[in-house]
Parts: sequence; structure tokens; C-alpha cells
Amino acid sequence: MRPSAEPPTAPDPYDLAVIGAGCAGLSGAVTASELGLSVALLDASPQIGGQFFRHPAPATGATRPEALHHDWSLFTGLRRRLEASAVDRLGGHHVWSVVRDGDTWAVHAVTGADGGEERAVRVRARAVLLATGAYERQLPFPGWTVPGVVGAGGAQAMLKSGLVLPGKRVVVAGSGPLLLAVASSLAAAGARVPAVIEASGYLGYARHPYALAANPHKLTEAAVHGGALLRHRVRLRTRSAVTEVHGTDRVEAVTVSRLDRDWRPVPGSGRRIECDALAVGHGLAPQIDLATTLGCATRTTPDRTTALVLDASQETSVRDLWAAGEPGGVGGARLADVEGELAGLAIAARLCGHTARGGRVRELERRRDRMRAFADAMAAAHAPGTGWPQWLADDTEVCRCEEVTAQSVRAAVTDLGARDARTVKLFTRAGMGWCQGRMCGAAVACLAARHGSEEPLAEPAPERRPFAVPVPLSALGSLDDPAPAPQAVTTD
Ligand SMILES: Cc1cc2nc3c(=O)[nH]c(=O)nc-3n(C[C@H](O)[C@H](O)[C@H](O)COP(=O)(O)OP(=O)(O)OC[C@H]3O[C@@H](n4cnc5c(N)ncnc54)[C@H](O)[C@@H]3O)c2cc1C
Repeated sequence: MRPSAEPPTAPDPYDLAVIGAGCAGLSGAVTASELGLSVALLDASPQIGGQFFRHPAPATGATRPEALHHDWSLFTGLRRRLEASAVDRLGGHHVWSVVRDGDTWAVHAVTGADGGEERAVRVRARAVLLATGAYERQLPFPGWTVPGVVGAGGAQAMLKSGLVLPGKRVVVAGSGPLLLAVASSLAAAGARVPAVIEASGYLGYARHPYALAANPHKLTEAAVHGGALLRHRVRLRTRSAVTEVHGTDRVEAVTVSRLDRDWRPVPGSGRRIECDALAVGHGLAPQIDLATTLGCATRTTPDRTTALVLDASQETSVRDLWAAGEPGGVGGARLADVEGELAGLAIAARLCGHTARGGRVRELERRRDRMRAFADAMAAAHAPGTGWPQWLADDTEVCRCEEVTAQSVRAAVTDLGARDARTVKLFTRAGMGWCQGRMCGAAVACLAARHGSEEPLAEPAPERRPFAVPVPLSALGSLDDPAPAPQAVTTD
């Protein structure tokens, strides 16, 4: 998306404000707009497509952006509908707060927070659809701060949006199906991938035969990635983890250890693999700060992240606040698309009395439930084991923003009596930095809860944060001024 020269007059309030222009947000926005609702679609990124359909900026001159994607037609279909719609597209808008304001919602955003011109924007709407996606979950280990260690999803994002590889020889490690997608993209783009290191096994999927049989497209996807790994001679090692990165100024090699069923390293099993980059991630966690601040009910997913509780129509426990895609539990682009449409239909039914198209709704609900069952099976198969803290050395930085080591976190627990992430934060500053605990929150919560017991990894209790993203004081200072009209944008 890019700014248009002539901002249209914005309806005040809109019927619907959609936050997030990935598959879920696009699908919800176009569905509601096609049914006659006035819709504003806000996203922090200037482009539409979200994490999955990230694509190179026009300036890169990329001629085949679809080359690094599967399901590209899902995106082009949504983009076509968006272009034909009356949706006001607000790219580069970082939403920091959503608050009730009488009968409507006030969505507060700041533009240009990545260094451009900062401007506070307020969008009013009768309903809000949260489609804010997910972020990558990281577990610390010795050497994870060495330059050349990147997130697995981050490596994919670098490649899709900037056509850049993190290195020439890239080990891909962590847990979850994203690793296979990342390794096959990196190999197809010319990197050598010596190995994919998966901490879980794949046998866990076999415990969910119904979910597998009902989602054949997922098996096809796995077969495509598996075939790509075979073609590029990438070794897949399961029940293993990178337990050390070697190098000071740059990654030179990693040590890979075998894990027992609880993810404890098996003594003496370490093997060194030479590489110049490591792409690592332990699944995705729903991005739900805006919702938890509003008091929305949450649930713990089978891989121990926190997701929103949603009803059959995708509404949260707070009236007129809907969610679609990853905030309800990580499940992929097609599920996000279906949930977005369901939410769009339900919102149009609530606001304009559109008689929901019963047959279509039932079909979408069936598809959603089928894909959610697979998502739960996938999450259970890759749930982190309780033994991962044994990867940590005393001097391993757990919170990299505030440089807080594992030893300091343990001292806060054993010497000072901290029992949760919040208390550890007060004692050590872990989680107080720029990322606000997104990187270290799960690890710190687990270390805090483990005092004398083997606690599984868990997200810290959802916090009510007034700011979902960093906000300049000037934006707060202008809150009492009449809100400037949102500046609409067009797709590129
Ligand atoms: C780093 C990363 C890489 C991934 N790579 C792959 C992959 O290679 N293959 C695969 O199958 N799946 C991948 N996934 C998962 C896949 O992206 C999702 O399953 C799919 O995109 C879900 O769609 P969505 O619409 O729910 O969320 P997303 O596509 O993530 O869209 C969410 C949108 O919300 C916006 N947003 C979030 N918070 C705010 C805010 N406060 N203000 C304004 N905008 C906001 C974001 O900018 C984003 O555009 C990846 C996920 C991540 C996090």
C-alpha cells in the first residue's frame, strides 16, 4: 500500500475497523465491504499481505514475487477484491490502543513509527476486527545473540520482502512446521542448508488421524517441502536441538545435541556443524495485546501459547470485538482466510441485519473446525518439552534487550522469591526492553515457575498494556486535539 494523493473524506464512525491486512484481515474487510459496510483497514506495514504473503517492495524490481510462495492465488484473489472495494486502506498505521468510546470504538494509531513522519490518527468504528497475526517464539540457548543468528520466520521475511539470505550456509533449527517451509525457501533461493534440526518428532501427528485425514492439503504441503529438502540434500534431524553457537563476531558453527523426550540434551551427543548463519524459532505465538488490554478471555493452546477465546461467529468475549486468524490460535493462511470471511459475515449481520447466508456460513464453519483440529494436532506435536532450560549456561542472556542472564533470573527466583515473570521483571528488568518481553517472556515465565518443579513452558499471564506498540510522546500529547482524518492509501 502507498499513500494516495487525495485522501477521501472518512466516514465517522466507520462500521468496521480491521486491524491487520494479512489473510484474515483482508478477507474480513472485503467480505464486510461487499455487504455494504464502511470499512477502514489498518496495518503497520505499508503493504498488504501480512506475514505469509510478504513480497518485495516495488523498488527491488522483483518480477516474480509469487516464486517464493505457495497458495499465491489466495492472495491475488483477496487483492483483486480489495481493489474493487470501497475499503479505506491505511498502510503504515501502527495501532497502539483500542478503547470503548460510548457506542463506538476508538482505534488509536501512529504513522511512520519506523522513522518516517510520525502522526497520531484516531479511527472510530462501530465494530473492530482484530487480525493482528502472530510473532515468533524464541527459546534462549548459549550463543543465540551472536550476529548471524536470526529468527526462522525472520529469515523467511528477509527473503520474501528483501530477497536477502541470512548467510551462505544456513542451519535451520527449533520446532514446528515453519522450519520445513523456511529451509526449502532458503535452499531454493541458493543457500546451502546443511541440516534442519527439529526438537520434536513427527510421530505426534499420528495421534490425530482424523485431523490428518480431514486436511489432505496439509499433507500435500508437507510432501512438497519434503521433496524440496530431498532435492537440495538437506538432512532432517528430529529430537535434536542447537545447544551452542560458536563464533564471536559472526556464526562459525553450531553444536547440535540429541534430546530426550523432555528436550533435555543427551550427554555426549553433541556434534558440530559448520555454518555461517542459524535460522531458529520455536513456533508462533498469537499477537493479542490489544485484546487482553480490553479484558478478552483467553485460552492456553496445546503448544502452551495464549490465544483468544472466540465464539462460533469469531466474536471475542467482549461484544462488538471480533478476531480472525492467528489471534485465535496459530493455524495458517487458509484458516485465517476462512475465519476472516466468517467474521465479516457475522459483523454485517449484527450491524446491518444482513441475513447471514446460512449455507455459506455452515460450509465456512465446517472448514474452520477441520483446519482448527489440524492446528491443534500440529501444536500438540511440537509442544516444547520441560527440559529445555538445561540448554542454558549461567551466562546465557535470557532477556537480550536488557542483557539479563539465566543466572540473574534464577537468583531472582531462588534468592528473592520471584514466582512469576512479572516479579522477575521487577527484580531484574527482564522483559522491560524494546520488545516488551515478546522475545523472552515465555522463557522467563517458565524459569520463574520452575522453582523446584518441572513446569512446562507457558506464556506469561496476559498483561493489560496501555500501549501495544511503542508510541512517541508527541502522539500522546496530541490526543486531546481533534483527531486528524485518516489518510487512505491504495494497493501497490
Ligand atoms: C515471521 C513469520 C513468518 C512466517 N512465515 C510463514 C511461511 O513461510 N509459511 C507459512 O505457511 N506460514 C508462515 N507464517 C505463518 C503465517 O504467516 C500465518 O499463518 C498467516 O499469515 C496468518 O494470517 P493472519 O492474517 O492471521 O496474520 P498475518 O499474516 O501475520 O497478518 C497480521 C497483520 O497484522 C499487522 N499488525 C499486527 N499488529 C498490528 C498493530 N498493532 N497495528 C497495525 N498492524 C498490526 C501485521 O503487520 C500483519 O500485516 C509466518 C509467521 C510469522 C510470524
